[in-house]
Amino acid sequence: MTDFSHLVHQANLIGGAWVGAESGAVFDVTNPATGDVIARVPNAGEVETRRAIDAAHAAFPAYAALPLNDRVAMMRRLHQAILDNQEALAWMMTAEQGKPLVEARAEIASSAAYVLWFAEEARRIYGEIIPSPVKGRRLMTTRHPVGVVAAITPWNFPSSMLARKIGPALAAGCTVVVKPASATPLSALVWGQLAEQAGFPPGVVNVLTGSARAIGGEIMANPKVRKITFTGSTDIGKDLIRAAAGTVKRVSMELGGNAPFMVFDDADLDRAVTGALFAKFRNAGQTCVCTNRLYVQSGIYDRFTEAFAARVAAMKVAPGHEAGAEQGPMIDEAAIAKMEDLLADALSKGGQLVTGGGRHARGGLFFQPTVVKNATTDMRMNSEEIFGPVAAIYRFDTEDEVVALANDTEYGLAAYAYTQDMARMFRLQDQLGYGLLGINEVAIVTPEAPFGGIKESGVGREGGRQGIEDFLDLKYTCIGGL
Ligand code: NAP
Repeated sequence: MTDFSHLVHQANLIGGAWVGAESGAVFDVTNPATGDVIARVPNAGEVETRRAIDAAHAAFPAYAALPLNDRVAMMRRLHQAILDNQEALAWMMTAEQGKPLVEARAEIASSAAYVLWFAEEARRIYGEIIPSPVKGRRLMTTRHPVGVVAAITPWNFPSSMLARKIGPALAAGCTVVVKPASATPLSALVWGQLAEQAGFPPGVVNVLTGSARAIGGEIMANPKVRKITFTGSTDIGKDLIRAAAGTVKRVSMELGGNAPFMVFDDADLDRAVTGALFAKFRNAGQTCVCTNRLYVQSGIYDRFTEAFAARVAAMKVAPGHEAGAEQGPMIDEAAIAKMEDLLADALSKGGQLVTGGGRHARGGLFFQPTVVKNATTDMRMNSEEIFGPVAAIYRFDTEDEVVALANDTEYGLAAYAYTQDMARMFRLQDQLGYGLLGINEVAIVTPEAPFGGIKESGVGREGGRQGIEDFLDLKYTCIGGL
């Protein structure tokens, strides 16, 4: 047991002060593995949000004007502070979110890596000199921080989703107002403490917890917020895009997915099974890039299904803090009910249960890792984001057929394929309508590469050299009379 109480904040950070909601209202943070209340945090609303935005707005000019070396030094200290507290932060995340400790530790390391990446990228915010078409002029572009950035994040990756937003914002010279998911506020509030520790001035990082509608409403209406960066469901993302029109805020949206995972007859079977296990069951299936549809070619279908189901049946379902846990609890009762509905629908339409199929004997929010074979496109889980530990295996015969099936969705976040055929790899790269493609690899997310979706999966990119661009305004200057 690693103590994380020194990292638990039951207050919001606004303008450098740790405060409660003006009304004194709080809400409970619970451990999904036990149902225990582990903290009570402020139920902030419109008034607190306006104060946080004002604080970020007031802090912006001085922060943006800091020497680059000072900004980079603070970011490096933030990176180090995250790493210094990695174990306690991981325990805290598992306590409020449920994921196995090994996954929580990896997420904290990833958060630190994003901060470091953007600390390095801060030095590469280049402008350019444009050749002038006429004499006596100098044409140039420069790039400048957009101003106050609001970040709204989901519960499935309570730390790294923030790192990908706070990291580039701070590197670009922006100030931020953060509103995390209500299920996992602790992993977000602690960013306030770590930012203070790293030396960021008061008002540069503000963190609010509470009513999504009230906080979100003020963020979207307030003209001082120049950018909204959101990760969450596609429906809420669409509402925010509409609301952003009112003050023409910049938008970055990381939304839902419906990832296909294609296994061709020529695939390395062991590698494909291991990849499918990770891509489906990480975080109990609650990730936006989790495979939603497993397409397996006829020649390898039975062998793959048997080997995959055997690995799934052997998974250890346990509280995330327990040694060896491979799948923790789901986030809430609604998530369990969704699994039951999707499964009932699939089984009524000819799906066959291979393993799992319902609530786990541990009770509470634990669900059995489940595999359904003979899945068909008329099942709800074909078009809806499952977001849980249920794998559906479809059969296909030809490459053209599976590409058409894979693309038959409004989503376009992640896709995976297992094949040894090099020419096919390039055809898939050209033909699949996805922002991310893993071929013979599923652990593809890294700070160095751009992450993001196309179609209704999102707008903008996080990570990579592209990840800072959405936090910068481009200015063009023409000097004449030279
Ligand atoms: P969600 O319900 O859309 O919530 C996400 C965030 O939005 C939470 O902080 C939530 O606050 C807030 N929110 C809810 N209603 C709002 C409103 N009207 N105005 C402003 N903010 C509002 O999503 P979720 O269930 O937490 O997360 C799961 C979804 O996120 C899945 O669809 C998944 O695919 C997607 N996701 C995408 C990515 C990606 O990178 N593409 C990564 C991770 C997750 P409350 O918690 O207080 O309701």
